[in-house]
Amino acid sequence: MAMRALVAGGAGFVGSHLCELLLNKGYEVVVLDNFVTGREANLETLRKLGHRLEVVRHDITSPLPQSLKTGTRFDEIYNLASPASPVDFDVMPVFIMRTASEGHLHLLELAREHGARILFASSSEVYGDAEQHPQKETYFGNVNPIGHRGCYDEAKRFGEALSQSYWRQYKTPIRIARIFNTYGPRMRANDGRIIPNFFTQALKGQSLTVYGDGTQTRSFCFVTDLARGLYALMQSEDTRPVNVGNPIERSVLEMADAINRLTGNRAAVKYLPLPENDPKLRRPDTTRATSSLGWTPAVSLEKGLELSLDYFKSELAQDPTLEASVIQ
Ligand code: NAD
Ligand code: UDP
Repeated sequence: MAMRALVAGGAGFVGSHLCELLLNKGYEVVVLDNFVTGREANLETLRKLGHRLEVVRHDITSPLPQSLKTGTRFDEIYNLASPASPVDFDVMPVFIMRTASEGHLHLLELAREHGARILFASSSEVYGDAEQHPQKETYFGNVNPIGHRGCYDEAKRFGEALSQSYWRQYKTPIRIARIFNTYGPRMRANDGRIIPNFFTQALKGQSLTVYGDGTQTRSFCFVTDLARGLYALMQSEDTRPVNVGNPIERSVLEMADAINRLTGNRAAVKYLPLPENDPKLRRPDTTRATSSLGWTPAVSLEKGLELSLDYFKSELAQDPTLEASVIQ
């Protein structure tokens, strides 16, 4: 019998790539999504992969549909549901917190009832403005709970603690993926994160908006590598948090240069104030992912940016009115 997976947030950027991987492996996949940041367009490729895809429009903060509870058992539940862009943090902070708490609780209960494995998409944000570099899973982090990013960082920390509690109390087979910055096709051009902002601006010949002095760093993972990592974590027996990310670290200014070069954009960068609590340095220590999952990223930054360029070009060709979302 085919394996059966529920992917909450499956209409989103990462979720749709994960669904594609699962369908290609012969899984039956049910997407559970309220489309707050997800898109029907992300599911188009998946629909072409056959009839093993079902889409349920639902907000996980509400009790789950009865049909999911009493229907065919799920083997695996991936919880990727959450707005993830800093531009969303001011717009829907309460919803973000409810999604990782009430929403994740609903999915953990479903996992318990079905005897399913459940993976929580956590974030490098649990490390906050890290005082250790690179970040190992043993580091507890440096988070301001009441700052601009607090709603997201604390939501992810709560989701991890809730997952861990289900493991302690009920032995529910949990998995916790600490995902680092990921990019690639199917990101919304106006989602506000660095890669879509820079591509959208560069392709329109505009100045790239650099927050702060641009020396802050991030480490960028191509989305298909991440999807493989999430799958590998689910198949492992590791119930500890695992960093899933690419250790390639670049400053914001280096990314601006790379994208300007790739697109031939000649506009000078525009400096804007650094948002509150914006982490200065971020790079995963991936020792655990390598040793426990046997996973390493395969796509170079150069290749990943080329693939992303083609995608953002086609997005802007379809809708030339798209603009980057900038935190002023
Ligand atoms: P995304 O916004 O593209 O996808 C999130 C999906 O979840 C969307 O389809 C959205 O509609 C859905 N969703 C949100 N709240 C929901 C709710 N209450 N009920 C049902 N569906 C809901 O974001 P993404 O970049 O694909 O991120 C996916 C997951 O990975 C998120 O949990 C995010 O926090 C985590 N993550 C992503 C990154 C990254 O760089 N992309 C980094 C760290 C963590
Ligand atoms: N950033 C920037 N200009 C933008 C968007 C983002 O300088 O138009 C910076 C942002 O301040 C941060 C980095 O790029 O230091 C990554 O931002 P993103 O929102 O992609 O992810 P996160 O901050 O959550 O890692």
